[in-house]
Amino acid sequence: MSRFLSRKFAALTPYVPGEQPKQTQLLKLNTNESPFAPSPKTIAAAAQAAEKLNLYSDPDCTLLCEAAAKHYGVRPENLLPVNGSDEILYLAFLTFCDDGVAYPSISYGFYPVCAAVCGVSAQEIPLDDALRINPADYSNLGKTIVLANPNAPTGSLLTTAQIESILQANANQVVLIDEAYIDFGGESCVPLIAKYDNLLVTQTFSKSRSMAGARLGFGIASAALIADLRAVKDSINPYNINRMTQAAGIAACEDNAFYLENCRKIISTREKTAQALETRGFRVLPSAANFLFVSPPDGNGGQLYRRLRERGVLVRHFDKPDLTAFLRVTIGTDAQMERLLREIDTIYQEERP
Ligand SMILES: *Cc1c(COP(=O)(O)O)cnc(C)c1O
Repeated sequence: MSRFLSRKFAALTPYVPGEQPKQTQLLKLNTNESPFAPSPKTIAAAAQAAEKLNLYSDPDCTLLCEAAAKHYGVRPENLLPVNGSDEILYLAFLTFCDDGVAYPSISYGFYPVCAAVCGVSAQEIPLDDALRINPADYSNLGKTIVLANPNAPTGSLLTTAQIESILQANANQVVLIDEAYIDFGGESCVPLIAKYDNLLVTQTFSKSRSMAGARLGFGIASAALIADLRAVKDSINPYNINRMTQAAGIAACEDNAFYLENCRKIISTREKTAQALETRGFRVLPSAANFLFVSPPDGNGGQLYRRLRERGVLVRHFDKPDLTAFLRVTIGTDAQMERLLREIDTIYQEERP
């Protein structure tokens, strides 16, 4: 720490992203990226936009908002494009959290970091015994509510009826629903923005749209909430979406069928993998996302993480008391998951005397 650091950041603990290894031969199942490349049209659009990188990008993302409005079934003024949905989380914590924020004690690790950097007081609400969110725990808290649906890293899903009950019980607070994984089996609550002026939905093209490296997400809400967020965004980083990403995002919206087919493949691979792990005695939490949260038969998640890594397979292990028995495994292709299962079988065979 330098002697110049602002006092307000003296105790800051930054978010630790999943490892992005330099060794390219590692099978990467640790940060929930898509195993599939973007569609050819998406790639071509980004390449063409690169020819104009000498010019600033459109700060209003006009064409992207039109394409995304069609895609999400909303109006352009209901959308704020952001540099990955992490940016909309940060903007929302800055913009709507004077009374503090509440989120599950086991959820996306970026929420506590956002709260800390924005100076927002945070209340962590425990999950139930099956590691699910109980909607009744979120009534009348008098705080902004942030929920990932499906939740991460557990994969559990709330129904839109359950989310409506939370919206109704907190009519005077913003309720942020982070739908990073909604395309892998959940029902989006985007249509509810017409009914609830306190609902802010966030979505990302990082997971289901194969664009983690492009950094594109959206805030989706009533025009009034979006106008507030846009004013703060324009005060921090007006050109937040670069030209290549704007063009790729438009192409990805127009190529929806391509991405839905990839989601269908991932869901089918997830179900096969869940079954294969259960057969091997793993505890597998029900998942509506592109990952599985699993605990090996001996409950030693940390050891299996290390042994898989030695064998060239990278998964995510969280060194937190409630989570240490578990691994979060991103769903890749069928072939990648077969490799994972082979390595697991070898590891447990070696362990037997
Ligand atoms: C991956 C993820 C995000 C953000 O991803 P971006 O790449 O910043 O769009 C947001 N929320 C959850 C729960 C995630 O897992």
